Amino acid sequence: MCNPVLPSASRRQLLFAGAASLTLAGLVHDETRAAAPADVNAPNAITPDEALTRLMDGNARYAANAPSNKDYSAGRASRVMAQYPIAAIVGCADSRVAPELAFDQGPGDIFVVRVAGNFVNEDGLASLEYGVKFLQVPLIIVLGHTHCGAVSATVDAIQKGVVLPGHLPDLVHSIKPAVAIAQLHGDADLKASATIENVRLNANRLSVSKPIIGQYVKEGKVKVVGGIYDLATGKVNLL
Ligand SMILES: [Zn+2]
Repeated sequence: MCNPVLPSASRRQLLFAGAASLTLAGLVHDETRAAAPADVNAPNAITPDEALTRLMDGNARYAANAPSNKDYSAGRASRVMAQYPIAAIVGCADSRVAPELAFDQGPGDIFVVRVAGNFVNEDGLASLEYGVKFLQVPLIIVLGHTHCGAVSATVDAIQKGVVLPGHLPDLVHSIKPAVAIAQLHGDADLKASATIENVRLNANRLSVSKPIIGQYVKEGKVKVVGGIYDLATGKVNLL
């Protein structure tokens, strides 16, 4: 008669936790074979600098409108078995910034975590930790972009007191620290400056994040860099 009834949020969390643990267990089970440290022959067993060179070369091709010819069906069968991304990208949800296109990469090449404002929250960090620990990703790029609506909205919220609807204030809350740093610099273009600081802040946080990524960075197995994608040119400028 007195069956305890969990609050709806708690029930959701439990259900989600159960589903997530089952799914992740499956992923880990599948991927640990590919992620074993001894697997030096894995296609993505390259240095962080080599990965960065590949991506920047790809961006140069993209910006020059000279992408490599791709056969998307090639390798599809092998991708069912495993993935070997050469980099992880923390990108904005903005539809104009498509990481695979911007770096001229194909399916399976990059591990992308996207959220408006390209910041790293707990779930994003967990995703990146999975990429680093189980997929052996050697490089993480935090990729901001010019004319970012999320950063602009945060600046407007701070300067003009604009209150956004729904859950958008959560985004503003996450981007605010970068805007505060940019304000200290006093640059004329606060939105552009805040975009750069947001990338720097999140790249720095990732570089020392515990317990996984910071350790990989310390050991030189992973590099975290920041970049700004220029909507007008298609070029990525590293910070
Ligand atoms: Zn954006």
